[in-house]
Parts: sequence; C-alpha cells; structure tokens
Amino acid sequence: MKVLKFGGTSVGSPERIEQLLPIIRSQAADKHLVVLSAVSGTTNDLVKLSELYESKDIDAAYKHIDVLYEKYKKFVNELFKTEKGISEALAFIDKIFDLFYQFKNKNFTPDAERIILAQGEIISTTLFHLHLKEKEISSVLLSALDFMLIDEDKEPDIDFIRKHAGLEIVKYPEETLFITQGYICRNAQGEIDNLQRGGSDYTASLLGAALQADEIQIWTDIDGFHNNDPRYVQNTRSIARLSFDEAAELSYFGAKILHPQSVFPARKYNVPVRLLDTMNPGAAGTLISGETTNQKQIVAIAAKDGITAIRIQSSRMLMAYGFLRKVFEVFERYRTPIDMITTSEVAVSLTIDQTDYLSEIVRELEVFSAVETDNEQSIICIVGDFRKENHGYATIVSEAVKHIPIRMISYGGSENNISLLVPSVYKIEALRSLHNRLF
Ligand code: ADP
Ligand code: ASP
Ligand code: MG
Repeated sequence: MKVLKFGGTSVGSPERIEQLLPIIRSQAADKHLVVLSAVSGTTNDLVKLSELYESKDIDAAYKHIDVLYEKYKKFVNELFKTEKGISEALAFIDKIFDLFYQFKNKNFTPDAERIILAQGEIISTTLFHLHLKEKEISSVLLSALDFMLIDEDKEPDIDFIRKHAGLEIVKYPEETLFITQGYICRNAQGEIDNLQRGGSDYTASLLGAALQADEIQIWTDIDGFHNNDPRYVQNTRSIARLSFDEAAELSYFGAKILHPQSVFPARKYNVPVRLLDTMNPGAAGTLISGETTNQKQIVAIAAKDGITAIRIQSSRMLMAYGFLRKVFEVFERYRTPIDMITTSEVAVSLTIDQTDYLSEIVRELEVFSAVETDNEQSIICIVGDFRKENHGYATIVSEAVKHIPIRMISYGGSENNISLLVPSVYKIEALRSLHNRLF
C-alpha cells in the first residue's frame, strides 16, 4: 500500500486532475490510497465565506457563493466529457452549494464554520471519483469522516484511524484505488473538524503510519524540500535526503511545504515520506527517512512567523529553584506550548505562537516576576549537523546575521538545530544573508 497526497495546486485545474491518474498508475503497489486537498484557493474562499456569515453580511456571502459556484460549474464543464458525467457532477455541486446558502438563517457558530471548511476536500475528492467513473476506472471514495478522529486535545487517535480506515479498505478486497479527503476529521464530540490549515499532509502521514504503508508520497508544486524558503530567497535547491528529525524541525519551524505536525506519525511508525512535483513527476524530489545522510553540513533554513517572546524576570535577586517550575506550570494551565527558551541567572525568555491566553498568562506570571512581551517576532531555524565535534557553525551563523537585531539564540537543545528569534521585519533579510553565507 502507498499513500499519495496531492495538494491544492495538483488538483487546481481540470488539466492538473487529468495528470494525476498516470502518476498514480505508474507506481508499483497493489493498493493506493489517494488523499486530496481542496482545489487551490477554495479553502481560502470558504474561510472568507464563513467570515461574511459571521459578520451577518448575507448579501456579500451570497455574492461570494455565486462566484464560487460559477467557478465550479466551469471546472465541471471542462473536466467531464460526457453529458452523463457533467450532469452527475453538477447535481453533486448543486447539493453542496445548497448547503452553503442554508447558513443564512442560522446563528453562525464555530461548528457551522467547520462544516463549511470541510466542503473543499469533499468537492475535490468527489469530482475526482466521478471523473474516474466517467473514464470507467474503478475506484472507491472513502469518507475521511468515518475514520479520521481527533481527541479533546486535538491529538489524532491513531488506533481509531488504523481500525476504522482498515475496516473500510477490507470491504473492497478486489479494489486497488481508494480516494479520501485530506484535512477533515471528526472531533471528540463527533462534530466535523479539521487538522488546521495545510492539514492534508498530516492526513496522509497519519494514514500512512496507521496502515503501515510502504511509502507516503506528498505531491506538490515544487521539486522537493528546498534548503531555504523559495518564496523569499533565490537560488534555493532541492535536498535529496532528509532524516525524519531534520524534516520535523524544518516543518515545525515554518517550512510551508509540510504541515508542522506531519512528520511525527511517519517518524514514529518509520514510514518513508517522499516529496514530489506534480508538474515534473520525473524529478527525484526529497526522500525523508530514518537515515541520517547529511553529516558535517548545514542542511536547510526555515522561518516561522507570528511568534511572541516573553521575558520573565524573577522578583528575587537570583533565580531560586522552583522558579522555572512555576513558570512552566502557568503555560501548562493554559495549554500553551513553548517553542524556544533561553535562560540567564535572573531571567528566562521564551516564545509562544498561540496567544489566545496571553493576557491570563502574563497576569499569573506577574504574581511572582516582572514580565515583558514582544510580538511580531520570527523564529529562524537552521538545521544541520551540530554535534559538538563540528564546532565553528555558531560563529558562521552569527557572522551572517551580525547586522540584524537578535532577540534570542538557542543552540544545543538538539544536535541538529540552531534557532534565532528576530523581529519579523528582519526575517527576509536574515534568510537571505544566512543563505549567502551558509550555502
Ligand atoms: P500544497 O498545496 O501542495 O500543499 P503548499 O503551498 O502547502 O503546497 O507547499 C508548497 C509550497 O511551499 C511551495 O510552492 C513553496 O513556495 C513553499 N515552501 C516554503 N518553504 C519551502 C521549502 N523549504 N521547500 C520547498 N517549498 C517550500
Ligand atoms: N485545504 C486545506 C488548506 O488549504 C488543507 C490543505 O490543503 O492541506 O489549508
Ligand atoms: Mg500544503
């Protein structure tokens, strides 16, 4: 079994959809589970629609739905070749759009928003399934809502996923091609939910891990994992191989090509992940596996925005023992993860990216310390082989960013990461300058 995930641009137009089947069929595997994202732009459109409903701007919401409807009507007319195929696909699209119009009279709650957001992947997978049917190619469309489950802490329940996805697949012993939605799931209350933006990668990794696939393939619009963010830096290049640890650090710290959590299931169950380019299917891409091949070198740089730094100064002269425990307990109470941390004799600085409870956290910290916060910061994460015998890299890194104000530096937390915190306005300059020095 192979899991193949195709992202938004890979299903972004009828021509692109036509290109998927040869890619899927060229693989030597008995069974394929194809995970699809929404057509590119659709999830953003659905976020916008939810915002319009929430602000009770029904006219604008309806206009927005009309524009999206026209887009899908055109899509269907181009993708399907027979009258029967077109009418079946349009009947399905009409049903989805009827649903969108129905939210007019409702009090717009967060679960209504999640239902709307889920339709993007439901549309793309159903259209793909109907497209195959029109071509008389057998496939089974599985609803991710039957097996993708998250718990109260939004953690995926991998045992449930294994059992229930497995049960669906064994119902069709003769079938080789299965299709399901990325991104969407059910939560502990049984409601429709999602795995956060970009979550289709996470779906693919969870399914690949749960079903012990031979390989998880992430098909996207670039020829693999690049050594820096190609949206901001020129002359980046694709990396042939990454270890799970390297890929986990880079995606967690902002490399958009992979959802931040998506490496963890594959790493835990040791299923290799291949990043491949739909527009250039012959390109080697990047293989992520348990092997470490990038020794004695710097591998890649990534950046994560939207970071808040908090400096917490002990109200005693020196940091007494128990101080850090009290600090961490505050973050634990508000279920707020800490990303970076540095300490001195009298103070500790740390970063968070979830700021929902920031004011409560600050209020509680102020009971026993002086607190300062800085928002609009970015973490620059440099991944490489930083074992202690490979000295000298810290100097090269700091030399590259000597003209940039650095708020925090973290080195030695793991053997493969150096992180810097800079005000977000300096992010691009930091990425470029590091790229020029390091590669
Ligand atoms: P998909 O819709 O297929 O999930 P994404 O847009 O989520 O695709 O991810 C692919 C994009 O990620 C690329 O087009 C590229 O602009 C961006 N990206 C950011 N950092 C990297 C990186 N280190 N390597 C490759 N692509 C990156
Ligand atoms: N469609 C979702 C998004 O745009 C999930 C994904 O594409 O991975 O965020
Ligand atoms: Mg993505």
